[in-house]
Amino acid sequence: MTPEDFQKVFPFVRDWIYQTLAANAVKAKSVASFNFPGLPRYYSSGLLARAKVVFVGKCPVPPPSSIGLSQFADFENMNASGITYFETYFVLWQEAERESLQFHELVHVVQWQLLGAERFLALYADRLEKHGYRNSPLEVMAYDHEARFNANAQPYSVEAAVRQQLQHWG
Ligand SMILES: [Zn+2]
Repeated sequence: MTPEDFQKVFPFVRDWIYQTLAANAVKAKSVASFNFPGLPRYYSSGLLARAKVVFVGKCPVPPPSSIGLSQFADFENMNASGITYFETYFVLWQEAERESLQFHELVHVVQWQLLGAERFLALYADRLEKHGYRNSPLEVMAYDHEARFNANAQPYSVEAAVRQQLQHWG
Protein backbone atom coordinates (compact mmCIF):
# COMPACT_ATOMS: atom_id res chain seq x y z
CA MET A 1 0.00 0.00 0.00
CA THR A 2 1.41 3.38 -0.96
CA PRO A 3 1.52 6.24 1.57
CA GLU A 4 -1.04 7.99 -0.65
CA ASP A 5 -3.41 5.03 -0.39
CA PHE A 6 -2.92 4.96 3.35
CA GLN A 7 -3.74 8.67 3.60
CA LYS A 8 -7.01 8.04 1.81
CA VAL A 9 -8.04 5.22 4.09
CA PHE A 10 -6.70 6.47 7.41
CA PRO A 11 -9.57 8.89 8.21
CA PHE A 12 -12.13 6.09 7.74
CA VAL A 13 -10.24 3.67 9.93
CA ARG A 14 -9.63 6.31 12.59
CA ASP A 15 -13.32 7.27 12.65
CA TRP A 16 -14.31 3.62 12.82
CA ILE A 17 -11.98 3.20 15.83
CA TYR A 18 -13.43 6.25 17.59
CA GLN A 19 -16.95 4.95 17.05
CA THR A 20 -16.02 1.48 18.24
CA LEU A 21 -14.39 2.83 21.39
CA ALA A 22 -17.35 5.12 22.09
CA ALA A 23 -19.80 2.26 21.62
CA ASN A 24 -17.88 0.11 24.11
CA ALA A 25 -16.93 2.80 26.62
CA VAL A 26 -19.41 1.65 29.27
CA LYS A 27 -17.96 -1.88 29.17
CA ALA A 28 -14.33 -0.76 29.43
CA LYS A 29 -12.63 -1.35 32.78
CA SER A 30 -9.15 -0.35 33.84
CA VAL A 31 -6.63 -3.16 33.57
CA ALA A 32 -5.51 -2.30 37.12
CA SER A 33 -8.96 -3.21 38.46
CA PHE A 34 -8.38 -6.89 37.60
CA ASN A 35 -5.33 -7.16 39.86
CA PHE A 36 -3.32 -9.42 37.62
CA PRO A 37 -0.37 -10.38 39.80
CA GLY A 38 2.43 -10.31 37.21
CA LEU A 39 1.65 -7.19 35.17
CA PRO A 40 2.83 -4.66 37.80
CA ARG A 41 6.29 -6.22 37.62
CA TYR A 42 6.62 -4.98 34.03
CA TYR A 43 4.22 -2.05 33.64
CA SER A 44 3.91 1.18 35.62
CA SER A 45 0.87 1.65 37.85
CA GLY A 46 0.01 4.72 35.76
CA LEU A 47 -0.19 2.69 32.58
CA LEU A 48 -2.23 -0.09 34.21
CA ALA A 49 -4.65 2.52 35.55
CA ARG A 50 -5.03 4.24 32.17
CA ALA A 51 -5.20 1.14 29.95
CA LYS A 52 -8.69 -0.29 29.54
CA VAL A 53 -9.93 -3.75 28.66
CA VAL A 54 -13.24 -4.79 27.10
CA PHE A 55 -14.24 -8.46 27.04
CA VAL A 56 -16.06 -9.45 23.88
CA GLY A 57 -17.40 -12.43 21.96
CA LYS A 58 -15.55 -11.28 18.85
CA CYS A 59 -12.76 -8.73 18.58
CA PRO A 60 -13.81 -5.75 16.50
CA VAL A 61 -11.60 -5.12 13.46
CA PRO A 62 -11.98 -2.35 10.91
CA PRO A 63 -13.83 -3.55 7.81
CA PRO A 64 -10.94 -3.15 5.33
CA SER A 65 -12.57 -4.89 2.40
CA SER A 66 -15.43 -2.43 2.60
CA ILE A 67 -12.98 0.44 2.10
CA GLY A 68 -11.16 -1.21 -0.80
CA LEU A 69 -8.36 -2.99 1.01
CA SER A 70 -9.13 -6.52 0.00
CA GLN A 71 -5.51 -7.57 0.66
CA PHE A 72 -6.32 -7.37 4.38
CA ALA A 73 -9.31 -9.68 4.20
CA ASP A 74 -7.33 -12.45 5.93
CA PHE A 75 -6.69 -10.17 8.85
CA GLU A 76 -10.33 -9.21 8.96
CA ASN A 77 -11.28 -12.89 9.14
CA MET A 78 -8.66 -14.16 11.50
CA ASN A 79 -10.68 -13.97 14.72
CA ALA A 80 -8.05 -12.44 16.95
CA SER A 81 -7.90 -13.27 20.66
CA GLY A 82 -7.13 -9.64 21.36
CA ILE A 83 -6.79 -6.30 19.58
CA THR A 84 -5.70 -2.87 20.74
CA TYR A 85 -6.87 0.62 19.81
CA PHE A 86 -5.21 3.53 21.60
CA GLU A 87 -5.30 2.72 25.32
CA THR A 88 -8.10 0.17 25.06
CA TYR A 89 -7.82 -3.44 24.13
CA PHE A 90 -10.47 -6.03 23.39
CA VAL A 91 -10.07 -9.63 24.56
CA LEU A 92 -12.30 -12.64 24.03
CA TRP A 93 -14.30 -13.68 27.10
CA GLN A 94 -12.73 -17.12 27.13
CA GLU A 95 -9.28 -15.49 27.28
CA ALA A 96 -10.19 -13.07 30.05
CA GLU A 97 -7.90 -14.71 32.59
CA ARG A 98 -4.91 -15.32 30.33
CA GLU A 99 -2.45 -12.87 31.80
CA SER A 100 0.09 -13.29 28.99
CA LEU A 101 -2.50 -12.09 26.48
CA GLN A 102 -3.17 -8.97 28.59
CA PHE A 103 0.60 -8.51 28.72
CA HIS A 104 0.81 -8.78 24.91
CA GLU A 105 -1.97 -6.26 24.30
CA LEU A 106 -0.35 -3.85 26.76
CA VAL A 107 2.77 -3.87 24.56
CA HIS A 108 0.50 -2.59 21.79
CA VAL A 109 -0.94 0.07 24.13
CA VAL A 110 2.62 1.32 24.67
CA GLN A 111 3.29 1.22 20.91
CA TRP A 112 0.11 3.23 20.25
CA GLN A 113 1.14 5.81 22.83
CA LEU A 114 4.64 6.22 21.47
CA LEU A 115 3.79 6.14 17.76
CA GLY A 116 0.40 7.81 17.72
CA ALA A 117 -2.58 6.50 15.77
CA GLU A 118 -1.46 7.48 12.29
CA ARG A 119 2.07 6.10 12.54
CA PHE A 120 0.96 2.95 14.37
CA LEU A 121 -1.67 2.15 11.75
CA ALA A 122 0.60 3.04 8.82
CA LEU A 123 3.36 0.80 10.14
CA TYR A 124 0.97 -1.95 11.06
CA ALA A 125 -0.76 -1.97 7.68
CA ASP A 126 2.48 -1.69 5.72
CA ARG A 127 4.25 -4.46 7.59
CA LEU A 128 1.16 -6.64 7.69
CA GLU A 129 1.06 -6.51 3.93
CA LYS A 130 4.78 -7.23 3.54
CA HIS A 131 5.40 -9.72 6.32
CA GLY A 132 2.04 -11.18 7.31
CA TYR A 133 0.52 -10.94 10.77
CA ARG A 134 2.94 -12.93 12.89
CA ASN A 135 6.11 -11.50 11.33
CA SER A 136 5.06 -7.88 11.22
CA PRO A 137 7.59 -6.02 13.40
CA LEU A 138 5.06 -4.54 15.83
CA GLU A 139 3.79 -8.08 16.47
CA VAL A 140 7.28 -9.57 16.71
CA MET A 141 8.05 -6.98 19.39
CA ALA A 142 4.87 -7.84 21.31
CA TYR A 143 5.46 -11.60 21.05
CA ASP A 144 9.10 -11.25 22.13
CA HIS A 145 8.12 -9.33 25.27
CA GLU A 146 5.32 -11.79 25.93
CA ALA A 147 7.83 -14.65 25.69
CA ARG A 148 10.05 -12.94 28.28
CA PHE A 149 7.02 -12.59 30.53
CA ASN A 150 6.12 -16.26 30.06
CA ALA A 151 9.71 -17.21 30.89
CA ASN A 152 9.32 -15.31 34.16
CA ALA A 153 11.97 -12.74 33.25
CA GLN A 154 13.44 -10.44 35.86
CA PRO A 155 11.10 -7.46 36.21
CA TYR A 156 11.86 -4.69 33.71
CA SER A 157 10.02 -1.69 32.29
CA VAL A 158 8.29 -2.71 29.08
CA GLU A 159 7.49 0.96 28.47
CA ALA A 160 11.21 1.88 28.54
CA ALA A 161 12.19 -1.15 26.46
CA VAL A 162 9.62 -0.47 23.74
CA ARG A 163 10.56 3.20 23.68
CA GLN A 164 14.17 2.22 23.07
CA GLN A 165 13.26 -0.31 20.39
CA LEU A 166 11.12 2.15 18.49
CA GLN A 167 13.88 4.77 18.54
CA HIS A 168 15.98 2.46 16.40
CA TRP A 169 13.27 2.39 13.76
CA GLY A 170 14.00 6.01 12.83
ZN1 LIG B 1 -0.42 -8.45 18.86
